Amino acid sequence: MFQRLRHLTTLESLSRDCIERLLDRAITMRDACAHGTRKLDLLNGRTILNLFFEPSTRTRTSFELAARRLGADVINFDIGFSSTAKGEELFDTLHTLEAMHLDAIVVRHKVSGTPDELVRHAMSGVSVVNAGDGNRAHPTQGLLDALTVRQHRPDFRQLTVVICGDVKHSRVARSDVHAFTKLGAREVRLCGPTALMPDQQEFPGCKFYDNFDQAIEGADVAIMLRLQKERMASTDLPDEAAYFREYGLDSRRLALAARGCMVMHPGPINRGIEIASEVADGPQSRILEQVGNGVFVRMAVLYEMLAR
Ligand code: ASP
Repeated sequence: MFQRLRHLTTLESLSRDCIERLLDRAITMRDACAHGTRKLDLLNGRTILNLFFEPSTRTRTSFELAARRLGADVINFDIGFSSTAKGEELFDTLHTLEAMHLDAIVVRHKVSGTPDELVRHAMSGVSVVNAGDGNRAHPTQGLLDALTVRQHRPDFRQLTVVICGDVKHSRVARSDVHAFTKLGAREVRLCGPTALMPDQQEFPGCKFYDNFDQAIEGADVAIMLRLQKERMASTDLPDEAAYFREYGLDSRRLALAARGCMVMHPGPINRGIEIASEVADGPQSRILEQVGNGVFVRMAVLYEMLAR
């Protein structure tokens, strides 16, 4: 059944068909805008608000570029300069901004569930896109990671993916697990120190590891995660040198993976903590490709929601 995209808060609620359609649409967008050198006018007259309550460079720029390449108007609302800093309620801010006639709100917030709250309070006709909420979801990252892998390894039935690092605090890991399992990946492995691993019940289909040498063995894709100190209790903070020895990706470890294993990272990268420069900048790294695909995936999402 065709699933129309009104809002995008998590990938959990999307059907496999809908995810595949978005990935296909991202490729159409890439070709239509000639890899970003041509502007389209598919969303002329539409207004998109970037409402970021957490700092972001990559994701916000990516959403902004996506909207502009589709011909939409973009407003950036930066919490640092807004009256929410003066204690204004989130929903008062929302209604004030909505009165300016918005078509979509792209929101990032440190509290999990904020995008769903906005969906409940937003005026009808305004779409909400989650650009990252707490440790819960980062759906466009999940989509762009799946797209990046699909471009190299289209048959997910043969795919073993390992996600390593601070899985517990990672919204990227959660959205990646949804994307890869919905698209039929053979195996998704989660690896990290016990203190930074989530409850196994949250990820019933995944395999859990605390030894990265074992987890990466034979993997086709290795997704490395940052230590998300901003969401950690101080007692969870590992010693960075010891962490790199146990969980960092260097060329010795990469050699344990399947031949040509794709190396990915959502950024920002911490070299020498979760990944060595020789790997981040090496021939198997797809990190910059992920960034490029992010714009096309976000164009696809905005187009699906807002095109008349
Ligand atoms: N940029 C990603 C996020 O917003 C990953 C990270 O910050 O480590 O979740």
